[in-house]
Amino acid sequence: MRRSSALLGALKCGDELISTAQLYGGTYRLMRDVFADLGIKVHHVGTDLAGIENLVNSGTRVLYVESPTNPTVRLVDVEKAAQFAKKHKLISIIDNTFATPVLQQPIKLGYDMVVHSATKALAGHSDVIAGVAVGNKKWMERVQHMVIYLGGSMDPEAAYLLNRGIKTLGLRVQKQCENAISVAKFLEKHAKVARVFYPGLPSHPDHKLAKKQMRGFGSMLAFDLKGGLPAARRVCDRVQLFLLAASLGGVESLVVLPAYTSHYNMSEEELARGGVTPGMVRVSIGIEDAEDLIADLQQALA
Ligand SMILES: *Cc1c(COP(=O)(O)O)cnc(C)c1O
Repeated sequence: MRRSSALLGALKCGDELISTAQLYGGTYRLMRDVFADLGIKVHHVGTDLAGIENLVNSGTRVLYVESPTNPTVRLVDVEKAAQFAKKHKLISIIDNTFATPVLQQPIKLGYDMVVHSATKALAGHSDVIAGVAVGNKKWMERVQHMVIYLGGSMDPEAAYLLNRGIKTLGLRVQKQCENAISVAKFLEKHAKVARVFYPGLPSHPDHKLAKKQMRGFGSMLAFDLKGGLPAARRVCDRVQLFLLAASLGGVESLVVLPAYTSHYNMSEEELARGGVTPGMVRVSIGIEDAEDLIADLQQALA
């Protein structure tokens, strides 16, 4: 709701939007299924922003980026994107859900608005649905109006849970980062694993950029198995400590197949553009003991 309110607060009929092609599925579908009918044209660019100059014209109003991306954990050079937006007088919006404010603070880089799914790490216990938009007074007044028009007000119970959960955000993210690198290294060495996507691994294409612009590599990773989709389904059925569930960023570790959850209702071509293979397993690492997490994956993969 904060995401759509931020975007709708910044865009009107006839405007154009440039967005990273790799996006949370819900954001992608919002742009694909709703914005076209509102007369807002969407252009997609890769996380490397290649060719972005060619997408700007007099109607371009917003640059929207997500970094790291869901589920392949690719990074956008967030400083470069902010500078590009400034140079072309575009409103810059970033989805900072995967990084959290602990690992990345885009307002300092000049973004006009930062949006978070507070459902995830900010609340941290997978028991709230909430969103956050951050920005200066001018933008926040617009977002507030949109929230009132569209009906996305948070109830007091959710606000209480978010307020309580956020107190431990720093500790949780720190532990999640420690666990995630251990799990990523274990998976990368496993004979049945074809590829691991985690920016903390030197094999990740954005490892250098992650070191430069983030204070840690985060709680999210993904992997492909040599056995493809059938093998991925077996692993998801066999894990015991990991839960098979959507959402992410909470205290408990989760596995999910993006093609059936966050990225449902997308064509093979759209999935390929987002870098999502049919058998990709997305993992959200929680605050359990890393050894227990590895032991669980070990038995599930056996
Ligand atoms: C989950 C998620 C969202 C949507 O959050 P809701 O709280 O479900 O609205 C947006 N962006 C990213 C990166 C997400 O992971």
